[in-house]
Amino acid sequence: MSEHRDAMERTAGMVLVISGPSGSGKGTVIEILRGLAPNLGLSVSATTRAMREGEAEGVNYYYKTREQFEELIAEGGVLEYTIYNGNYYGTLKSEAERILDAGQDLVLEIEVDGAGQIKRLMGDRATTVMLIAPSAEEQERRLRGRGTEDDDVIAARVKRAREEIKEAPKYDYVAVNETDRAEECARDILSIIRAEHMRSDRMMTYIHDYFDDDEI
Ligand code: 5GP
Repeated sequence: MSEHRDAMERTAGMVLVISGPSGSGKGTVIEILRGLAPNLGLSVSATTRAMREGEAEGVNYYYKTREQFEELIAEGGVLEYTIYNGNYYGTLKSEAERILDAGQDLVLEIEVDGAGQIKRLMGDRATTVMLIAPSAEEQERRLRGRGTEDDDVIAARVKRAREEIKEAPKYDYVAVNETDRAEECARDILSIIRAEHMRSDRMMTYIHDYFDDDEI
C-alpha cells in the first residue's frame, strides 16, 4: 500500500535564506509564502535595535541589550550574526534547532553578510534567494513611497540597497518582485523550495528505501 506524501515531505527540512534590500517588498512576499506553505518555520532573530511601534518580543525579534547579545555570541548561541546600522542582528541556534527538529523548513530572513555565513556553515543544505524590485527606479519609488523620511535618509537607503543588490551573484537564486504581484513572487519562491526538496542528494534516503540491501 502506498502512502501519499507531498514532495516536500519526503525529505528532511531545508534551510531557505531570503535577503531583500529595503524596497524589495520582502515582508509581504514572506507573509504570502507562509500562507502557501504551512510547513515553513520562520526563525525569529535576536537584535539589539530598539523595538519599533507595532512590534512585539518573540514575534518580530528577541530584543537584547548589547551585553546580552555579546554573551550569546560568547556561549555559541548564534549561528551567524552581523552588525547592521550599528546594531547586532543574529540567528539563534535554539530557534533554528526547534524548527528543524519539528520537521519544518527553516526560513531565515537575513541580510547579505549573514546569508554568506549560513552558506559557508551549511553548504548545500541551505539555499539562498535574493529578492529585488523590478528596477532601480521602482525600488527607489517604493522607498520614497513611505513618505515619512527626509531625502538624506532615503538617499542612504537607496545607496545601501544598491550595494546589497551587487551581491546577487553570491546567491543561488534571484527572485523579482514585480509591482502588485507579490503573490506571483511568493509562488516563484515556493517553486524553488519544491525543486530543492527533489534534488537527488536529498532524495537518497527515499531511494535507499526501494531496496532491501546495499544494491546502491
Ligand atoms: P530591520 O531592522 O529593518 O528589522 O532589519 C534590518 C536588516 O537586518 C534586514 O536586512 C534584515 O533582513 C536583517 N536581519 C534581521 N535579522 C537578522 C539576523 O538574524 N541576521 C542577519 N545577518 N541579518 C538579520
